[in-house]
Amino acid sequence: MELNGKLNDEEELIKNSFDEYCEKNYVPYYEEYLRNRIFPRKIMKDLSELLLPSTISLDKDEKVDDVILGILSEEMGKYEFPLPAFLSIHFSKLLPYINDEAIREKYINQYLAGESIICGAYTEPGHGSDAYHIATEARKSGSDYILSGEKSFVSNPGISDIYMISARTGKGISILMADRSMDGLEPYEIENMAYLFRGEFGGIRMNNVKVPGTYLVGEENKGFKLLMDILSIQRVHVGLYAIGIAEGALNEAIEYAKMRKAFGMPISKFEAVSFRLAEDMAKIESIRTLAYKALAMENSGMDNSIESAAVKGYGCEVAFNAVSDALQTLGAAGYSKTSSMERKFRISRGFLLGDGTPDIQKLIISRKIFGRDFSP
Ligand SMILES: Cc1cc2nc3c(=O)[nH]c(=O)nc-3n(C[C@H](O)[C@H](O)[C@H](O)COP(=O)(O)OP(=O)(O)OC[C@H]3O[C@@H](n4cnc5c(N)ncnc54)[C@H](O)[C@@H]3O)c2cc1C
Repeated sequence: MELNGKLNDEEELIKNSFDEYCEKNYVPYYEEYLRNRIFPRKIMKDLSELLLPSTISLDKDEKVDDVILGILSEEMGKYEFPLPAFLSIHFSKLLPYINDEAIREKYINQYLAGESIICGAYTEPGHGSDAYHIATEARKSGSDYILSGEKSFVSNPGISDIYMISARTGKGISILMADRSMDGLEPYEIENMAYLFRGEFGGIRMNNVKVPGTYLVGEENKGFKLLMDILSIQRVHVGLYAIGIAEGALNEAIEYAKMRKAFGMPISKFEAVSFRLAEDMAKIESIRTLAYKALAMENSGMDNSIESAAVKGYGCEVAFNAVSDALQTLGAAGYSKTSSMERKFRISRGFLLGDGTPDIQKLIISRKIFGRDFSP
């Protein structure tokens, strides 16, 4: 993507084929999916040919093109594409870090064939923002790990096949990959306001789950840094997904404001209505620009921690406020389950919590600009 926003041929092709897929194979069935509340697993199969190969690098030392991924993240937001698919794509970045070659190949092939949903489980009942001081433990027993503890408020535990779990291993944190079929692994559901499909939000109880040492992701005791690196770039993609949702909401509100009349004229003629949306557009556009800058920096191996935290923290607030203003534009008609605004409002609200709250993003930026000794 150029600075002026123009896509190159490859980016254009991927964006257009994704949009075409959504228009033909997703949008017509969306209402049905929502009614049934069952995540359509067929979607991952469809994506296997369409785009999964461009979203994962088989070699951990070779980066995927994050700008292409970002374009997809934004489009996914516009189409309200299911979060289990969106998040799987981002947590799949951990697969190339599995050290054991046979296990790595097995799970990457399974993912590329569209046969697996991956979730990242680091939050616990007693530890959220403070993701380091966790209680989940993985004890060494011969070449295996014995995993015990509980993760909660996690996306997709009831839908996933593969769980990337953070656990204390003696001197630090490690990431272990657990397979749904492992004995003692019990995903559970939490009903909540934001999610659309059954199993999309909940926790995982781990009762002495035997995880072979070959399922270690990255190095033992060095998993915290790996997790933070993955989450840092994932935050930009979450921000772009939120921006995509907000763009959809604003476009709908603009059309509505031109059509809806009050006091004998279209409500867009009232500055209170049109300036509010104009301001949201300006903010959304500035976050979009910052997000793609952060992704271009990622592609070039530059430090983008300030930009990433800003896109997640500030960007998700901007997106949520824009959706709220769009809902306001529709008046009472927006405050109804028959309007997409209600859904967009709930989903975009969740982004102010998942993957780190805006407070935590400010903490990241403060530590960067003041240094650890002079920041909260
Ligand atoms: C929609 C959604 C999706 C999620 N998906 C996942 C997932 O896939 N995997 C997963 O593991 N977890 C997931 N989570 C959990 C999420 O990561 C946590 O909710 C988040 O990290 C905050 O933790 P907490 O809820 O325990 O709040 P707490 O950490 O208890 O924080 C409570 C409040 O205190 C503030 N606070 C805490 N510490 C500080 C500080 N140092 N400085 C300033 N303010 C602070 C927070 O900003 C917040 O407002 C998800 C949550 C939601 C809502």
